[in-house]
Amino acid sequence: MNIFNLGGDAGAAASPASATTCSRKACRADASWQLLWNNPKIHTPDRRKVWLACGEHREWLEDYLQTRGLWKETLRVDGTPPSEGEPASEGAPSSNGGPSFNSAPTSGGNG
Ligand SMILES: [Zn+2]
Repeated sequence: MNIFNLGGDAGAAASPASATTCSRKACRADASWQLLWNNPKIHTPDRRKVWLACGEHREWLEDYLQTRGLWKETLRVDGTPPSEGEPASEGAPSSNGGPSFNSAPTSGGNG
């Protein structure tokens, strides 16, 4: 008598869909920002914890960390700092002005 004990292994593969999801609870939006913070009570000074934030929750999370004195830096998800004077809300870039091309004078000519 053989006993086949087939362990049903539900292979739930972790979905690598998006590694950059907003850290705000119940928010599933793609994050545009990463908030670097450090808790001097439990972390070494050079330690950086990272929260991801979408455009909507960036300020909320920043305020949360700043209130507790934990906030260090806010960077884009690609690691670059935000531009100065850039509004928090993401808007479509608008191109304005046209480049002015000056035709360089051609010299020479032999006859
Ligand atoms: Zn969010």
